[in-house]
Amino acid sequence: MSDVFPDPRIDHVLHTSEEIQAAVRRIGAEITADYAGRELTLITVLKGGTIFLADLCRTIELPLTIDFMEISSYGPRAGGSVRITKDLDDPIEGRDVLVVEDIIDTGLTLSYLLRVLNQRRPASVSVCTLLDKDARRLADLPIEYRGFSVPDRFLVGYGLDLDGLWRTLPYVATLSDEIWSGS
Ligand code: 5GP
Repeated sequence: MSDVFPDPRIDHVLHTSEEIQAAVRRIGAEITADYAGRELTLITVLKGGTIFLADLCRTIELPLTIDFMEISSYGPRAGGSVRITKDLDDPIEGRDVLVVEDIIDTGLTLSYLLRVLNQRRPASVSVCTLLDKDARRLADLPIEYRGFSVPDRFLVGYGLDLDGLWRTLPYVATLSDEIWSGS
């Protein structure tokens, strides 16, 4: 499956489905060990994080709850301003919280999200990301669990979209240079 490109604009598979599933199992085992004896709330930002969350939560052997937020970000040119368009359903006061992200790029969105979550007085907040585009980081963030460090390219698949498409690919791919330079 991972060598089939559904579209000529998809260039190169950066991480295959098998590599991703191995990383998910490794991170799930680390989280299971680190939070042994505790309950955990996994929080994901819609929609990109849902694919990773769905796989990851089934590798964590702990009592878990899951909750979702939706955020609209206007990017660094707008001063990194961010707005919550869907809030969590449940309070997180006193709970151990793990934010599950598909990708962290500049880190501005996550740094806003962490400020909002910390104001709600959780017992703890940690961060897990499948992909870390660390070359572009503007905000200094603690990332406790990470799948892969990735280059500064526009990526699609495994939750990451372009105009709503390609989230459902089981692998992470780069776009062809033509599309990348026009994006
Ligand atoms: P940040 O605030 O860290 O710059 O932005 C993070 C968000 O930007 C991610 O949650 C994701 O929605 C989007 N993003 C960053 N890099 C990529 C990428 O390579 N591909 C896609 N599809 N989205 C990206």
